[in-house]
Amino acid sequence: MHAEAWDGIKNGFQSGRLAHAYTIVGSPRGNALHFAESFLKLLFCERAEKPCNECTGCRQVEAHKHVDTLWIEPQSKSRQILADDVRGLIRRMSQTSFDGGWKAGVILSADCMNESSENALLKTLEEPPPKSILLLVTDSAQSLLPTIISRCQKIVLSEGNANAVNELWHEPLMNILHCLPPTGGLDAARLASQLKGILDVVKEGIADAVIEELDQNDEALDESKLKVILEARTNARLKEVQADVFRVMLDWQRDVLLLTSGIEQENLIFSNDWNMLEQQAKLHTQGSALKAMQEIEAISRRLDRNIPAMQIFDEAFRKLVRR
Ligand SMILES: [Zn+2]
Repeated sequence: MHAEAWDGIKNGFQSGRLAHAYTIVGSPRGNALHFAESFLKLLFCERAEKPCNECTGCRQVEAHKHVDTLWIEPQSKSRQILADDVRGLIRRMSQTSFDGGWKAGVILSADCMNESSENALLKTLEEPPPKSILLLVTDSAQSLLPTIISRCQKIVLSEGNANAVNELWHEPLMNILHCLPPTGGLDAARLASQLKGILDVVKEGIADAVIEELDQNDEALDESKLKVILEARTNARLKEVQADVFRVMLDWQRDVLLLTSGIEQENLIFSNDWNMLEQQAKLHTQGSALKAMQEIEAISRRLDRNIPAMQIFDEAFRKLVRR
């Protein structure tokens, strides 16, 4: 199923070009866990045809008992990966390996690292020990610090419910874009509340997906911790989707701007909507189209500052009203 990702790792191993750290995105108890195990078997298998799944090395990896690999995961009580555990892992990875070969560290559910754990890890990612491999296994890579993500090679096995979530917003958003620019204040308010409605539906969809994931987790969590995890994960993913939503809005307005500058149809992103775009371009000057783009850019900046969404959308769409 993940043939391409697996081939990449195998080739990297054979040609001596493995990265020092990987983020494996998928289920930490399912596909991503198995991928990490196979990865390590490749390093520690004792036979020519690697991984054989039969030799002592392979079997020790499978049992998470290989002497040159340390696995850490969230503490069952706090659901957090503690900085002490991360430091222990780093220490082990910095020591000479048992037989002069590879040393590996695996962090399961790496998104459960708290701030001090992540900071402890960062130093190692900057100066990795030689012949060492660090694997971060997670189903929500977006919860990791961007500085961590950027220092790891990313292997995506499954993006969770990303596609299902995209279906929730894409078409309704296009319907809004087709109505731009608003005809007046009332129309602006209507479009603003539609946009708010879309994001509310998206948030519900994301929360449902997160609840499902938490349900699959066989550890018993108490209610208050569940709530905290649910909210943190939902908000982190919502932020990503919001960024996508505003990128589409910006792309649309950019097309309008290009048309006011007399750009050819084939250079448009939404070339299928050419008629609609051209009608909108006629209601703009180059200057007003540019201003509209800036208004949309301002929306996401203001959302980051925790101003209520409805207020932001209302004001933004009001500024987009056709003159
Ligand atoms: Zn083997």
